[in-house]
Amino acid sequence: MITRFDKLQTELPHPKNPSPNSAAAVQELLGGKFGEMSTFMNYTFQSFNFRGRAQMRPFYDLIANIAAEEFGHIELVTYAINLLLTGTTERGDDPSTTPLEAAGDARNTYHFLASGQQALPMDSQGTFWTGANVFSSGNLKLDLLHNFFLECGARAGKIRVYETVDDPTARACVGFLLVRGGVHIVAYAKALEKLTGVEVGKLLPIPDISNKRFPEAAKHEARGLHRILYQFSPEDYPQAKQIWNGQHPEDGSELRVEVGAPEGFEPPELEAEPQLTAPIGPDIDAEMFKDVAGKLFPELKPSARRGSRSKVSV
Ligand code: MN
Ligand code: MN
Repeated sequence: MITRFDKLQTELPHPKNPSPNSAAAVQELLGGKFGEMSTFMNYTFQSFNFRGRAQMRPFYDLIANIAAEEFGHIELVTYAINLLLTGTTERGDDPSTTPLEAAGDARNTYHFLASGQQALPMDSQGTFWTGANVFSSGNLKLDLLHNFFLECGARAGKIRVYETVDDPTARACVGFLLVRGGVHIVAYAKALEKLTGVEVGKLLPIPDISNKRFPEAAKHEARGLHRILYQFSPEDYPQAKQIWNGQHPEDGSELRVEVGAPEGFEPPELEAEPQLTAPIGPDIDAEMFKDVAGKLFPELKPSARRGSRSKVSV
């Protein structure tokens, strides 16, 4: 079972201007072959499928904890894409003004024609993510080697997206993910070291550039975020610390497991994009809507509870 928090793992600033083509590039980090959906689903299936865990419990606990973190990474990248898309097109509910005209010049028209200026489970070219990206062999050494490679490939993807877009929202997201992905690279390297005795950490960094070269990553490393593995449960999955211990192979700092979820930050508030008359069209009977809403949700008042940000009065 999974517990859910209405929080993001890092803070994302609102962009100064909309940037649909940056949003398209960031999609690679969500639904690309090496994106967050791939890391999440690989580790999720490997942990659900894990046989013989009585003998190999620390490896199971490690993969399960990282899977939980990846779920939150999908969430984070999705918010970054939504922020970058916000305000790309003209707001309003008069279709004769061609409010979606700007979509014609955007690289990924799915963002406008197949969704309401929102993230979708696809890569930077608009190819939908597929379960064929999941590798779950049942051979622990092979799965760990795959995961190490997947995280290194994911790191290459993050660096390339960073080099493609200079938007502070995108870079805040990528900088944070470089640090956390770096933890996962080291975690799988350590796991392979425990399992085989081979010093995999000597290969790092892959690609050959330090996270400390990226200001948006370096600030998290300065706070020690590259040394922490989260145990996403107060009691369960504790044996990951049998693997996540000792020194960081790149800077020699001490590794530690933190029990519980990360601190978390308030998710950004996103304005409605009413070009498809969302959430409420101009031709709705306002009185009838109030009447129905009042009957269905008598306890719902504007701002009455967290998460209720509807401008509808009932
Ligand atoms: Mn991730
Ligand atoms: Mn990862």
